[in-house]
Amino acid sequence: MTTAHAYAAQSATTPLAPFTFERRAPAARDVAIDILYCGVCHSDLHTARSEWGPAAYPCVPGHEIVGRVHAVGSEVSKFKVGDLVGVGCMVDSCQHCQPCKDGLEQYCDNGMTGTYDSQEQVSRVNTLGGYSDHIVVFEKFVLKISHDEKQLAAVAPLLCAGITTYSPLRQWKAGPGMKVGVVGLGGLGHMGVKIAAAMGAHVVLFTTSPGKSEDARRLGAKEVVVSRNESEMAVHRNSFDLIINTVAVSHNLDPFVQLLKLDGTLVLVGAPGTPHPSPGVFGLITKRRRIAGSMIGGIAETQEMLDFCAAHGIVSDIETIAMPKINEAYERMLKSDVKYRFVIDMATVQG
Ligand code: NAP
Ligand code: ZN
Repeated sequence: MTTAHAYAAQSATTPLAPFTFERRAPAARDVAIDILYCGVCHSDLHTARSEWGPAAYPCVPGHEIVGRVHAVGSEVSKFKVGDLVGVGCMVDSCQHCQPCKDGLEQYCDNGMTGTYDSQEQVSRVNTLGGYSDHIVVFEKFVLKISHDEKQLAAVAPLLCAGITTYSPLRQWKAGPGMKVGVVGLGGLGHMGVKIAAAMGAHVVLFTTSPGKSEDARRLGAKEVVVSRNESEMAVHRNSFDLIINTVAVSHNLDPFVQLLKLDGTLVLVGAPGTPHPSPGVFGLITKRRRIAGSMIGGIAETQEMLDFCAAHGIVSDIETIAMPKINEAYERMLKSDVKYRFVIDMATVQG
């Protein structure tokens, strides 16, 4: 066992504060990782504050982890000490159901093990995440990083924000000739814009923050629509193949459904704590439109996404923060005041 220095929430209403706990010693197929940076996802906030239902406390969030291999178990073949690696939203799954066999571990029939606020497969011990100085992970759930080491902090958000947008873009075959919308320019949204543009799609960004227009174009959007402006929205009726909605709060989906063309799909990836109002049926049946959902991506697809981003020079636009600033960062995230992902420098976890 080794002592981890971390930040944890002790209840839904207390700010995150310093916390120490014991990590398991690496087993034969485990990789021990010194965490260098960890991205701050809106899911961290939803969980720490029990917005998705009661979390287990103490809760150490963080699932956009990058770092360096510190030690490997005797049967580890993919990694060696010193390698730069990443860990995303999952650290294990049952390994024998059909989704696991198909490389879709996030949809494991027996419940994947999330990086935090989840249960280990055998021991059922609560998992503690990346707002900590090291972590021990089953090698199958560790990703190789081929970006330049200097970009490491900006690679961290790819492990959740990157894969969560990459996966539906691949599933619905975003590419040249397709008109793709991204709703919300936050952590997920800005990765969605960059990745969809790199795939060759015509990207339109929907925002509630008119001040983000210039950034959206710089990131790869060809058009920007202020979603609260009805006349700007009306121009795009019946024209989208695919819209990825990343918004973290409950809102009316109908205005976005109306923008889909025949057989178009609105994919929900944003996961608000309270449901969206039910969409109108006529918006769907009159053009055989679909509303779908998507959750992160499998391990093989996450590696594919990291390699795709390295090949296309894609990283996240980040603001690096010290660990003690995490509570301030959460408040700014709630005000959509993030450009476009906070990343914690884990060297600061011990103050
Ligand atoms: P974020 O950085 O806070 O971005 C959310 C964006 O939503 C904001 O930047 C803002 O963009 C827009 N927004 C905020 N308030 C709004 C409102 N009242 N009406 C309309 N738009 C609003 O959050 P994130 O880290 O990208 O996460 C987004 C959501 O995805 C969260 O619910 C998170 O839990 C979820 N998530 C899901 C998965 C998955 O696997 N499906 C994975 C990771 C995260 P504008 O300023 O441009 O409007
Ligand atoms: Zn996340």
